[in-house]
Amino acid sequence: MVEISVDTERCVGAGQCVLSAPDVFDQDDDGIVTVLEANPDADQAAEVVQAERICPAQAITVREG
Ligand code: SF4
Repeated sequence: MVEISVDTERCVGAGQCVLSAPDVFDQDDDGIVTVLEANPDADQAAEVVQAERICPAQAITVREG
């Protein structure tokens, strides 16, 4: 189980998170990240951690519980 938070002030709309985990992240009309699933299950954890790593704005925080 992982818990996601995003800092929309930092997000620059690069969309890398959506490419990494399309079931978990989306972008609004301005390209800013939105979270579709704040508590993704274990199968999605690797994708979410990847999104956290590659986000150029370091706007994604993942806590693994
Ligand atoms: S990868 Fe980071 S900067 Fe790009 S849309 Fe996602 S949260 Fe925003």
